Amino acid sequence: MTDRVCLVHYHEIGLKGKNRSTFENQLVANLRRALRDFPVREIKRISGHILVTVEGGRATPELAHAISRVPGVARVSLAYLCALDQDEYCAAAVRALGEAGDFSSFKVHARRSATDYELHTLDLNRLVGGVLCQAFPDKKVEMHHPDVTVVVMVVQASVYVYAASEPGVGGLPVGTAGKVVTLLSSGFDSPVATWMVGRRGAICVPVHFSGRPMTADTSEYLCQDIVSALEPSGMIGRLYVVPFGERQREISLAVPQSLRIITYRRVMFAVSERLAELEGAKALVTGESLGQVASQTLDNIAAVNEMVSMPVLRPLIGSDKQEIMRRAEEIGTYEISTQDAADCCTLFMPRRPETHAKLDQVHAAWDSFDHEEMIEDLVDNVEYVDFDQCPSYRPPRCMRARHKTLAPAEIDCGV
Ligand code: ATP
Ligand code: MG
Repeated sequence: MTDRVCLVHYHEIGLKGKNRSTFENQLVANLRRALRDFPVREIKRISGHILVTVEGGRATPELAHAISRVPGVARVSLAYLCALDQDEYCAAAVRALGEAGDFSSFKVHARRSATDYELHTLDLNRLVGGVLCQAFPDKKVEMHHPDVTVVVMVVQASVYVYAASEPGVGGLPVGTAGKVVTLLSSGFDSPVATWMVGRRGAICVPVHFSGRPMTADTSEYLCQDIVSALEPSGMIGRLYVVPFGERQREISLAVPQSLRIITYRRVMFAVSERLAELEGAKALVTGESLGQVASQTLDNIAAVNEMVSMPVLRPLIGSDKQEIMRRAEEIGTYEISTQDAADCCTLFMPRRPETHAKLDQVHAAWDSFDHEEMIEDLVDNVEYVDFDQCPSYRPPRCMRARHKTLAPAEIDCGV
């Protein structure tokens, strides 16, 4: 019986010239991790595609869907794998077209690669097209804009036949663009920002600042849920949590009310940059969107940004909230982010935060407490929880002994 397999298409990788095999190997490694709950037999490169086969030979739409969520995948086709046997691949083409849903026109597109099969693409188009015309007499053949294209791909001694594909998330395989530290809250924006940078191939290491011990640890568990929701994308190896509550209280006593948020943010950026250095990450990422809230004016962004020398990526800077929410739904973090949880941002909030910070006032506030000691102490007391989703993530050695590990997220604190 003809097997069903998944054919993975990737176009951006094709643009990478000499690096192409590095990208393909990374995508294969990432797929292996992402599909570990499926009975996968083999994942291998064939002729500009990646082929995924399963034990028993019956790849399913669920497998295709899981593949589609891995960065670097442009689309996935649930294909029939046939021998070089006319009857077999023509029958597969009939089945594939029969499964294509509603359509009124089609065409056949044959391709060949590394094969000495006697039939060439024109012969194949004619042969399979003839069989399909007989099987679907009320459908039209349309060469230019058909509703469905039946692809018949001959590679060595095998023929792959498919008529439909599921779009993938696109982007590049995680692990091909280095490492970033992302500032993660349990709100809508930063999970989306994290996902966007991860989709471009970066390994993401989120850092969450919680209000503990002045608030409950709910936001920490929500962040763990967010990391788990991003599991299909395989971009996260570890989540850092910085209990910031005590230090926020100190800041709130030391600096003018209107500058509290900017001062918290400066500390958060400085701590994140130190963690990024320990991790070997090359940039920070935030979910900021210009003008969305008081802290996201250009003046305030500048007053916080000057704390760090690393590039700060803000993938959502030009996005509207509606777009961000839509993306949050797509990536599966929306429901988690609707849950309210106090974090460091809701703690000791001023009644009227500064919207256009003056740098001299920010600097005076900054110098009114021992910020160096605070930053070092926060880095020293960082906690983390590891996730087994990103095959390219390597933890920094120096962290292993010095830092506590958070309890795994067993508690459902969404209620
Ligand atoms: P989000 O929806 O991501 O919470 P926001 O709309 O609430 O963003 P801000 O509170 O101004 O906006 O946060 C801006 C960015 O600062 C966030 O997107 C995130 O990158 C970072 N940030 C905010 N709070 C935290 C936190 N508790 N821990 C880590 N990073 C945070
Ligand atoms: Mg927030």
